[in-house]
Amino acid sequence: MSRTKVLAALLGILAAFAMASPATASTSLVRTIYYDTTRAAELADEVDQAAQIWNAGVTSVKLVKGTGGVSITTAQSGSAPGTASCVGCTRGQIYFYRAQITSSGAAPLRVVVHELGHVLSLNHPSDIGNCAKVMAGGRCQNAQPSAAELAAVQRFWTGRVAAPTVGLVA
Ligand SMILES: [Zn+2]
Repeated sequence: MSRTKVLAALLGILAAFAMASPATASTSLVRTIYYDTTRAAELADEVDQAAQIWNAGVTSVKLVKGTGGVSITTAQSGSAPGTASCVGCTRGQIYFYRAQITSSGAAPLRVVVHELGHVLSLNHPSDIGNCAKVMAGGRCQNAQPSAAELAAVQRFWTGRVAAPTVGLVA
C-alpha cells in the first residue's frame, strides 16, 4: 500500500469515528439510575437479577450498580414486603422487609422487581393480584414484567427529563 493510500485509509477511519459521534451523543439520552446494594444483605443478588430483568426489557433507562442513586436496604420487619421512596426517580431509597416478604407468599425476586418498578415510574394497576404483572402484588412467583409494564417504563424515560413523584409507596 502506498503512503497516499495508507493516509487515505487513516482518514477514512477518522471520518468513520467522526460520523459515529452523533450516535454516541444520542445514546447519552439513556437515563442511568445507580443502585447501591451495600445494605441489601441477602437480597443483593436478587437486586442484581431484577436490574438485569428491567435492563433486558427497556432501552431508555438503565439500572447500574453504583452509589449516588437509589440505596437499597434489607431489614427484618416493616409495613410491607418493600417500600420505595419515589416513583420515576434517579435518587431515593428502597427498603425490603424479610418478615413481610415471607408472609406475602410472593417470590423475593418478584418483590425486588416490583420496588425497582416503582423507581422506574410504575404505579400499581387496578387488577391487584394478577401474577402476569409485577406491579400487581399477589402471592405470585412471576418476576418478569408484562409487555405493557416494560412499554410504560420505556415511554416514561424516553427523550425527556422525568418529573419524579416523591412519596413513599409499598
Ligand atoms: Zn408497590
